[in-house]
Amino acid sequence: MRAGIAAWRSHTVGCMRLCDLASRLLSSPFAMVVLPRGCAGCGEPDSVLCADCRALFTVWPSRQFPGLPGGTLACARYSGRARSAVLAWKDHDDRECDTVFARYLASAVDMMLGRIGAASGVSGVGSDHRVTLVPVPSSGRSVRARGRPHMTVLSHAVCRLLCGEYGYDAVVADVLTVARHGGRSVSLSSAQQRHDRMGDRFRVRGRLHDGCLHDMGCRDVGVGTVILLDDIITTGSTLRGCADVLAAAGIHVSAAIALADTPPRGGSSRVS
Ligand SMILES: [Zn+2]
Repeated sequence: MRAGIAAWRSHTVGCMRLCDLASRLLSSPFAMVVLPRGCAGCGEPDSVLCADCRALFTVWPSRQFPGLPGGTLACARYSGRARSAVLAWKDHDDRECDTVFARYLASAVDMMLGRIGAASGVSGVGSDHRVTLVPVPSSGRSVRARGRPHMTVLSHAVCRLLCGEYGYDAVVADVLTVARHGGRSVSLSSAQQRHDRMGDRFRVRGRLHDGCLHDMGCRDVGVGTVILLDDIITTGSTLRGCADVLAAAGIHVSAAIALADTPPRGGSSRVS
């Protein structure tokens, strides 16, 4: 009997060691080379995002928003495989999606600048046009949990594309932070309550992160068109909160661009 228990224990310990070894191997750089990755949206092998899932990021749902003259424009609808891909990138550290998502966001920014230019009668928002990208910040807790400020990282990748491939004079102004007391807002019952709370949730750091720009409160800052960048639009309260706090600092946001948009309950966003 004892011999049987000892053999069972030995077998169990052996299995645990094997599992541990397998887990270490799977997360090693060796495994990254040998084992193909799966699509962030559907798991299809050998691609960061397969062709079918990529197509979901060229849907371009848009909304009008008070306080944002250009409204919002997203790459995808926040559902199904597009939602899975965004969550794989955002919450499961799939950093290989950075490059793919930056490309769609850069297209969206270019599209939005075209719309703003057309609406204001400016013929061709041109290559010398200054664009300031302001990433929507995450709380300190989220940044620690994810290991990085994911929207700031993505905004810099978008900025590089806008400058390098589209010819814009783009900068990232990582000037917003989440106030310490800014907690979870999901329990707030009405959209107005959520908006009021969000308006109090963000702070401006004080200076734009670019050597040639000046204090945020200075009216003659040449920031050009200011665009908020976010991952997911839900009610829009976060965007309005960010736009409000920037407006109070003298910086007026023209539009917001996001990876994915959740259409509001009972309504729908316009697909362009
Ligand atoms: Zn896929």
